[in-house]
Amino acid sequence: MQIYINGTFYPKEEAKVSVFDHGYLYGDGIYETLRAYDGYVFHLDEHIERLEHSAKLMEMALPLDDDGISQAIHDTLSRNGLKDAYIRVSVSRGTGEIGLDPELCPVPTFVIIAKPFVDYPTELYEKGIKIAIVEIRRNHPETLNPAIKSTNFLNNIFAKMEAKRAGAFEGIMLNHGHFVAEGTISNIFMVKNGELATPPLIAGILEGVTRGLVIELAEKLEIKVYEEMFTEAALKDADEVFITNTTMEIMPVREVDDKSIGAPGRLTKILAEAYRHEVQRYLKARKRAD
Ligand code: PLP
Repeated sequence: MQIYINGTFYPKEEAKVSVFDHGYLYGDGIYETLRAYDGYVFHLDEHIERLEHSAKLMEMALPLDDDGISQAIHDTLSRNGLKDAYIRVSVSRGTGEIGLDPELCPVPTFVIIAKPFVDYPTELYEKGIKIAIVEIRRNHPETLNPAIKSTNFLNNIFAKMEAKRAGAFEGIMLNHGHFVAEGTISNIFMVKNGELATPPLIAGILEGVTRGLVIELAEKLEIKVYEEMFTEAALKDADEVFITNTTMEIMPVREVDDKSIGAPGRLTKILAEAYRHEVQRYLKARKRAD
């Protein structure tokens, strides 16, 4: 496995970052998780855009422009001979003296790791997963804004630990106003009476690329979709629930805490199918453009 660090490839065992890197010292960094299907990185532009948005919100200048980032990702894929891949791009503030001031770090550390994509067990899609509403709250947007895809992830790690203790696959955090926000690594949707609802960005969540696509697909299918705040009680009363992210796509939920939900529900299946079609359409369009 060859890892990209600031323009150079290193074998996994030699791919190292300084203990003075502010990503390590302070969690001062951002990241993206991407998925390549058959050599094409799905919604690459949207992921690059979000990385740039995260960088902007933390006042960090990225060392590469759009084309440079895209090139580095594709170089990492080809170096590793990968077509179906999990890709992680991390950018930390960089190496510098101990101290919080970002000016101590003149050069960001830009890392790309790509590894073969391993499918989630089919059973999870067929039977659905259990999710747990956790005690820890999603960061208030006026603290560490959830719109930044930050490597400062302790809040979500605490949520994951709680979810694991509850025997759940994913932990769902409420926001400061007690409304449902999102999962540790996913956005959440529910279906009630044939209509789809998902928390709005002002709930204090990451703007998931998959979330955006699901909303778009639902609209195309003429499924009513509302971005609105809802409570834990409403979630437990839903007809269908699913979570989304780039690697798992649309994952049906069969249990919220101890409340059973029929999974996968009718709309969940329709949207999952539409998502798979969209991936194929995207691949065809990219192949044609090559
Ligand atoms: N919310 C959080 C906190 C995440 O970490 C992620 C992805 O890792 C998502 C939502 C889903 O985002 P995307 O659909 O862009 O993968």
